[in-house]
Amino acid sequence: MGYQLQHLLDFSVILCTAGIVCCHRVRFDGFQVLRLTALNYQHEPFLIDLLRSEKFEFWDYPNDVMTSPENKEELVQLLLANDVLFYVLIEDIQQLIDAQYHATSFAKPAESKFDYSRYHTYYEIDRWIQDTAAEYPQLTKVFSIGHSYEQRIMRVLKVGSSWQETKPALWIQSGIHAREWISPATNIWMTNQLLKRYGNDQEITDLLDTFDFYILLITNPDGYEFTWTNNRLWRKTRSRNYNSTCYGTDANRNWPYQWGGIGASPYPCSETYRGQHPLSEIEVANVVDFITKQGKIQDFVLIMDIHSYSQMWLNPWGHTKKHPDDYETHMDVGQLFVDAVFSSYGTEYRYGPISDLLYIASGCTVDWGYGEMNILHSYSIELRDTGNYGFLLPKDQIIPTAVETFRGMLAVWTYLKDNLL
Ligand SMILES: [Zn+2]
Repeated sequence: MGYQLQHLLDFSVILCTAGIVCCHRVRFDGFQVLRLTALNYQHEPFLIDLLRSEKFEFWDYPNDVMTSPENKEELVQLLLANDVLFYVLIEDIQQLIDAQYHATSFAKPAESKFDYSRYHTYYEIDRWIQDTAAEYPQLTKVFSIGHSYEQRIMRVLKVGSSWQETKPALWIQSGIHAREWISPATNIWMTNQLLKRYGNDQEITDLLDTFDFYILLITNPDGYEFTWTNNRLWRKTRSRNYNSTCYGTDANRNWPYQWGGIGASPYPCSETYRGQHPLSEIEVANVVDFITKQGKIQDFVLIMDIHSYSQMWLNPWGHTKKHPDDYETHMDVGQLFVDAVFSSYGTEYRYGPISDLLYIASGCTVDWGYGEMNILHSYSIELRDTGNYGFLLPKDQIIPTAVETFRGMLAVWTYLKDNLL
């Protein structure tokens, strides 16, 4: 193809991806996030009603709730009537969204270096995976574990220094919730560090000599792409739901262990819809298939699921408040992580079981890893921040978030290496 024609085509792709023809994107002008404070158990029935209301959406239950300008007065009246204290945490959501899209320069030539300090589309990230595999042929392998509902390829990057079949394996996944952009951005940066520092940094060299890292950057490709093209705040997959006009399932409620219990909605319009049945979502099924099959060849010793926001390290269980047998071990590892994170910039994380720190959530990745696959170390993290920007973390926080998270991860991975049976 002639250079000029290719150039024109590139340009038209750039225009579409950048959303310059933008007007089909959902707008959130004047939408606000309110922070509810001083909550106690007496507020619970009211909060559960609020959670079920289709007018308001919790960004972080039970603390942060989003409202449209039209419904704000009603929400305020409800909060006052139920003695809930609150303040405005985010003044205008659309302004933060605009800042994120605008910070994304598509004007750069395609061959320019990948910019780790900004957010990227699914297609840019998929390109990065292939480029990176080509750049580090001795340390990587790239392969597909299948396609998403809308037929996007789910490429896994395997990182490790030798290809003995029996090395213990680590599974690191990000982007299962579409709008949590900092999750893949952090994972990409960390993956690059592992590769770049191998041979120069003893700790990383030892880790890559010991483990195979299986890295899935975007676990929910359709949802992620949709946050770029249509709705920045989309969370779920994009599968069609039988008998409903609402799209998508919460992929982190669709895992085949204790599926369908508390904290996973049976309603397709809910943000935490569990799906029609366990593994109804092809994206989750692809991961389960791969880990199950590969787990017969090598031992998975860690499952790590990266989310945002609220700065937390999360252990099992999600589906019950009962503590598992390995609770003490999980808490020790959590402590290692949060101390290491803190040592970078003083960012404070809390740690504990999902059901203690967040809420009861059934059918999540962590419970499947620990309960079904018997992977002792099965965790989730919620990255920055604690709500000032929520899902709309500005790009100038990408690298600091990645740096501190990587410190935490290194502490955990090294602990695992030192404690291999
Ligand atoms: Zn999430």
